[in-house]
Amino acid sequence: SISVVLFTCDLRLHDHPPLRAAVDGTEQVVPLFVRDRAVDAAGFAAPNRLAFLADCLRDLDAGLRERGGRLVVRHGSLVDEVCKVAAEADADEVHMASDVSAHAHRREERLRRALEGEGVRLHVHDTVTTAVAPGAVVPAGSDHFAVFTPYLRRWSQERLRDPLAAPRTVRVPSGVGSGLLPSRDDLSGLSEGLAAGGETVGRERLTTWLRAGVSAYEDRHDDLAGDATSRLSPHLHFGTLSPVELVHRARRTGGPGAEAFVRQLAWRDFNRQVLSARPAAAGADYRTRHDRWRSERAAAEDIEAWKEGRTGYPIVDAAMRQLRHEGWMHNRGRLLTGSFLTKTLYVDWRVGARHFLDLLVDGDLANNQLNWQWMAGTGTDTRPNRVLNPVTQAKRYDPDGTYVRRWVPELAALPGPVVHEPWKLRGPDRAALDYPDPIVDLPEGLARFKRARGRD
Ligand code: FAD
Repeated sequence: SISVVLFTCDLRLHDHPPLRAAVDGTEQVVPLFVRDRAVDAAGFAAPNRLAFLADCLRDLDAGLRERGGRLVVRHGSLVDEVCKVAAEADADEVHMASDVSAHAHRREERLRRALEGEGVRLHVHDTVTTAVAPGAVVPAGSDHFAVFTPYLRRWSQERLRDPLAAPRTVRVPSGVGSGLLPSRDDLSGLSEGLAAGGETVGRERLTTWLRAGVSAYEDRHDDLAGDATSRLSPHLHFGTLSPVELVHRARRTGGPGAEAFVRQLAWRDFNRQVLSARPAAAGADYRTRHDRWRSERAAAEDIEAWKEGRTGYPIVDAAMRQLRHEGWMHNRGRLLTGSFLTKTLYVDWRVGARHFLDLLVDGDLANNQLNWQWMAGTGTDTRPNRVLNPVTQAKRYDPDGTYVRRWVPELAALPGPVVHEPWKLRGPDRAALDYPDPIVDLPEGLARFKRARGRD
């Protein structure tokens, strides 16, 4: 018997339930990745993520070849290509991971029906892209948790399955054609400091992180200049690392840092169970606050300044430039730039979410859209009117200004925390800087937001 394993956001060999089921249950396996035309058409295929994806596919193919197999790559309609490959291989079954977006739900249903018509069974596996499956824990009377703390309590009590070893051999039938593996060299418009992808580098990073980084995580995760977070987010997004394995290994490491890190992994699962239950939250307010955001046309100049990192608020500009340069931004930066766009400039969260998805290598529908909503106060945040003041944030999370000086070279000569308020410099010193004045007055922005939310 023969099976097809369809890889989507789970580009790894270790702890991979669909691959394990296929290898154990059938004689031959076709490992398949389909570059889905619908994902491209939806504008989700940003260059930074395509580059990381190309690395992941090459690494996956190399890992399969070491085991006697190879990766089959196709491009087109995912449903059509899976059916074609199943027919070419004369497969009896297809294994894949479950996923949470509306697109993923629809795709799974269409695939199931199409395969059934051909007499092929589809097996969809949970806990491949999450540690705890969406819907596995629910509060009384609802299909999902809308508040994190009670979710975390239940999530922490769940018994996770044991991680699975990577298969030793993968026997692939001959006669199934494959397209060429993509390469990052064929792409343009990439961020200069973009991280490399693939399971091999992901596992190395994880091991180093658990050995040398995680113990300081609780104390240092908010230190912008310290860069003391795991940077595993693109690996979690593309599934080169398994959330189940991560939780097990972090718990084994132990200590307050590892505990705080596991809590962040629970946030990831939390957002996925929200999106799975409310797929519309990817584009519509999860909770309506009746915001009438400034029109994109009226705010066009402010939006451009925000995107380009020239708002005149050094900490905001530093974070926005890190995003452009690395395709990644520190979580504290994401929070304060998100607050600045929605609550100080009063621009619709969808504008910011779209820009992040254009650049983020970890750009992820569940985490991006729901974190944006959290910051805009339209999501699961219990303090929807909280505004992060960029100057206060800067002084707290970049106390000596190192992060700003790293990303805003125009200010590199300013010593210490002075760098956070260049408008306070005296005449000639201020005039010598090639750096813009603030595009908005903070009290004015705050007053506009309060009026709009009806909180005068
Ligand atoms: P670490 O601090 O090392 O955390 C470990 C892992 O936990 C992360 O890799 C991530 O998978 C998860 N995690 C951490 N923080 C959160 C969080 N707040 N919500 C959900 N999961 C979390 N994360 C994405 O993966 N993709 C996105 O597109 C994304 N967009 C965001 C947009 C905004 C406006 C905000 C405020 C946050 C966003 N985040 C997103 C969450 C968070 O900022 C990133 O996951 C984190 O910065 C990634 O860095 P790290 O891997 O070093 O995180």
